[in-house]
Amino acid sequence: MSLHLYNTLTRTLERFKPLRQEEVKVYYCGPTPYNYAHIGNLRNYLMDDIIVRTMRFLGYKVRTVMNVTDIDDKTIRDSQKSGKSLKELTENYTNEFLADCTRLAIIPADTIAPISTLIPDMGTIIDGLIAKWYAYLADDGSVYYSVAKFRKYGELAHLDTKWMISSVRIDNDEYEKEQVADFALWKAYDAEADGENSWEIEVTIDWEKKILKWRPGWHIECSACNMKFFWAQIDIHMGGCDLIFPHHQNEVAQTEAYTGKKFANYWLHGGHLLVDNKKMAKSAKNFYTLGDIFEQNKDIPEILIARGFRLMALQNQYRENFNFTFERLGAAINTIRGLDEMMKRLGRYRDLLLRDKVELSDEDLTLTAKWRIKFHDITREFRENQQSYMQEFIEKLEDDFDTLSAMATVYEYQTYINTGIDDSLFTAWECSSLIGLMQSWNEVVSIFDFDLLTSESLPADISRLAEARILAKTLKDWAESDRIRDELVSLGYKMIDEKDGWRMEKV
Ligand code: AMP
Ligand code: ZN
Repeated sequence: MSLHLYNTLTRTLERFKPLRQEEVKVYYCGPTPYNYAHIGNLRNYLMDDIIVRTMRFLGYKVRTVMNVTDIDDKTIRDSQKSGKSLKELTENYTNEFLADCTRLAIIPADTIAPISTLIPDMGTIIDGLIAKWYAYLADDGSVYYSVAKFRKYGELAHLDTKWMISSVRIDNDEYEKEQVADFALWKAYDAEADGENSWEIEVTIDWEKKILKWRPGWHIECSACNMKFFWAQIDIHMGGCDLIFPHHQNEVAQTEAYTGKKFANYWLHGGHLLVDNKKMAKSAKNFYTLGDIFEQNKDIPEILIARGFRLMALQNQYRENFNFTFERLGAAINTIRGLDEMMKRLGRYRDLLLRDKVELSDEDLTLTAKWRIKFHDITREFRENQQSYMQEFIEKLEDDFDTLSAMATVYEYQTYINTGIDDSLFTAWECSSLIGLMQSWNEVVSIFDFDLLTSESLPADISRLAEARILAKTLKDWAESDRIRDELVSLGYKMIDEKDGWRMEKV
């Protein structure tokens, strides 16, 4: 198999062929920083992250660009409401957004571009669109895109353009398919709505240069951002499925009319996070921020909640909608705890094997295991298992980033490790190989905590005493073993014997 992805443009599963092997260009629409992101928005960026991580894992050299919609109706409205400057408001919420991303192990885009830095780039495109008769200055003082001029209008969003009423204009950035109309590229200045906020572009109308001192429409922002960093063509454009129309459809119309080239080869759209089967949205007031879900689970460490939420995203195919509930989050957190427990056991088991200078009694390990430890071998069966787990994981991801199935492989592997430890099956070198496989999977899933392998490492003197006690037990010197146990307690440690070794607890 090779990577196949579901392309919204063709509504089919297609084999991925990059424009250029050396650099796969991936763009995704960024946040509108007028407030904290809700976990529905964050699910969307988790999807972008998992897709990009998977492509890198599969060997593609991916370059990512994301815009930040720091100029739009909502950011301007809320900066005025809060009495803060637009810059102050949007920088603050952009930083909050990036902090949430860090908590969720989302790798930031290689380039993150606030739209306010791209005004001249928007001006160039608008100027070009006017020159090619795709855009016009209307009586209300705004520049509109003439959708009837773009023959392929509606292709991405699968619109039936027969019904299009071409002389109608719309200056809202968001509208329904039934309202297809000429949309605003550059909006007329409205002192009441825009306050201090206005930006200038230079365009040529009827051979005359004019300065338009207004502000951008939302759709032109993403066309300009792509143009600036990737020029005419990109491989993959991503976003939530609510963006297909009008936002992405309008991006296609603008960019392709300007460059005369096909804009994005593949369009990937993510499903929604729902609450009671309704899309989570600020306007519906049915949303939670990451801070809210931390607050509601105060007894659980934040990092564990964040990992649980990331796992929830992985346990659903990116195109599916799914309901958020606290029960489901709780279940995902428990799954993480199970993975953590396995990691700790593997760490303890490996440490036990590495202490092979201590003679181990038959109670500690089976005879076969002892023989194999001595040779530090990797059996053929083990190697084949490793290969088939890796192959299964890759094939599932190559099938349109099917993380739900890839996670099933991870859970099978977890059981394989746990039962292997129960039966003392693995050698020290095999343990390293198990850890190595999970480290490579973690490049995609990023939910394992490898610190747990050594988290229980002890101060050197305590560790020496523990080993001396194991030696005493091996020699069946029970009095010495008890004496060391008491000494450990006096130093604040309790040594607990377990089937696969021992662990130390602080008293
Ligand atoms: P915004 O900050 O409103 O521009 O939205 C940022 C991203 O979040 C867009 O790609 C939206 O498609 C996506 N989005 C918004 N609501 C949801 C939701 N409930 N579930 C998944 N993605 C969403
Ligand atoms: Zn966009």
